[in-house]
Amino acid sequence: MNYISTRGQAPVLDFEAVTLAGLASDGGLYVPEAWPALTPDELRALRGASYEETANAVIAKFVGDTLSAEEIAELTKAAYGAFSHAAVTPLVQLDGRHWLLELFHGPTLAFKDVALQLLGLLFEKFLTARGERLTIVGATSGDTGSAAINALAGRECAEVFMLHPAGRVSDVQRRQMTTVIAPNVHNLAIEGSFDDAQAHVKRMFRDPDMAGLRLSAVNSINWARLMAQIVYYVYAAVRLGAPDRSVAFSVPTGNFGDVFAGYVAARMGLPVERLIVATNVNDILHRALSAGDYSAGTVSPTAAPSMDIQVSSNFERLLFDLADRDPARLTAMMEGFDETKRLRLDDDIREKAAAMFSSARIDADEMSMTLQWAWRQTGNLIDPHTAIGLAAARQEELAADVPVVTLATAHPAKFETAVERATGMRPQLPGRLSGLMDRAEAYETLPGTYEAVRDFVRTNAALPA
Ligand SMILES: *Cc1c(COP(=O)(O)O)cnc(C)c1O
Repeated sequence: MNYISTRGQAPVLDFEAVTLAGLASDGGLYVPEAWPALTPDELRALRGASYEETANAVIAKFVGDTLSAEEIAELTKAAYGAFSHAAVTPLVQLDGRHWLLELFHGPTLAFKDVALQLLGLLFEKFLTARGERLTIVGATSGDTGSAAINALAGRECAEVFMLHPAGRVSDVQRRQMTTVIAPNVHNLAIEGSFDDAQAHVKRMFRDPDMAGLRLSAVNSINWARLMAQIVYYVYAAVRLGAPDRSVAFSVPTGNFGDVFAGYVAARMGLPVERLIVATNVNDILHRALSAGDYSAGTVSPTAAPSMDIQVSSNFERLLFDLADRDPARLTAMMEGFDETKRLRLDDDIREKAAAMFSSARIDADEMSMTLQWAWRQTGNLIDPHTAIGLAAARQEELAADVPVVTLATAHPAKFETAVERATGMRPQLPGRLSGLMDRAEAYETLPGTYEAVRDFVRTNAALPA
């Protein structure tokens, strides 16, 4: 299996190289050169399969000969053995039609663990064999940072510098990062907003003075992360009757990564009736899918902060596929967007998107009412991101025999204040995190200038800049 860039000018890479690369050198994103198929018989053979077995079957389609079946099985066992639920991503039935797919049973309580636990192991395997080491720099508004730190802490292959905006992540989110004490983990609280921290990270990648550090990223533009997320769509749909019955999914979305994994599952042959893209008031994706208007506004902070995003990096992968994989056409669209922050989608692309995607914009009241509905009518405490997905799912009109699965992307205790405000119930942290609020923290607070951040990374990195 080879990987090509959406913009057509970067080298073709195999799975190992694409995992280590992140962004393509032409500014595009890597995608498989063709979608592999999951046949109805292969899907039927997954009935009764464990999560790990399902993962092994899906991952084998994407790695070519960079990993053997035995190596894949070892990796998935190590990645998913650490989840606190035996089913890894259990389905919970809410009523006759609606289901939750709980993706938060990993070590840091958000769905990002599903991909990052595997990615940490892939990095270690590939880099150890090459005798190489990377410096990972990232900016986080909360969930990615803790999932990446947990996946990489103590690993020889990588050193992690994680920037978060000082005072602007929740206490639980900060402590999940800063209480991980390991020589290869550096937490930096940066004065300013998430966008400021993100701008410092992007500048470090372009800074020639940082070249010796071999910088790399673990954000959701990394193909291996998306690949790992395809698995739970297959796992859930097979449990609900695929390939002989089709299933709809509702996905609370920010960067379009999670829902793009669902699109890939459908392209591979999983019978997906509909993908519902659920946004909060930061609704660029809803405007794009419902009106063809992909234009960035300013970000409004909400109770679902992991979706407070105005440019959805992975949307480029969808546009590439819907534009018949024509890199010249895609490049023209994206360069126009980069310049003006606006893009009007052509009719053929809108039509193809509408065949698979619906979308909804859920405001704070609808989010809160859905949180209450889930608690009062079904006895489930859900987090604000999940509530946005469920609100969109409940609005969608579908045939009566189609089950609708909402992706539950975070544990409610991660966003306890918003959950308590809506339901009157304070969600409890799971047992294995119960000491979190008492553990010692380690982090540096830095002023919000690029020079302060750059100098800290250069002085403290193990690799010479
Ligand atoms: C990151 C995140 C999202 C958005 O996921 P994307 O892949 O960016 O669409 C939704 N919910 C939670 C809890 C998250 O952490």
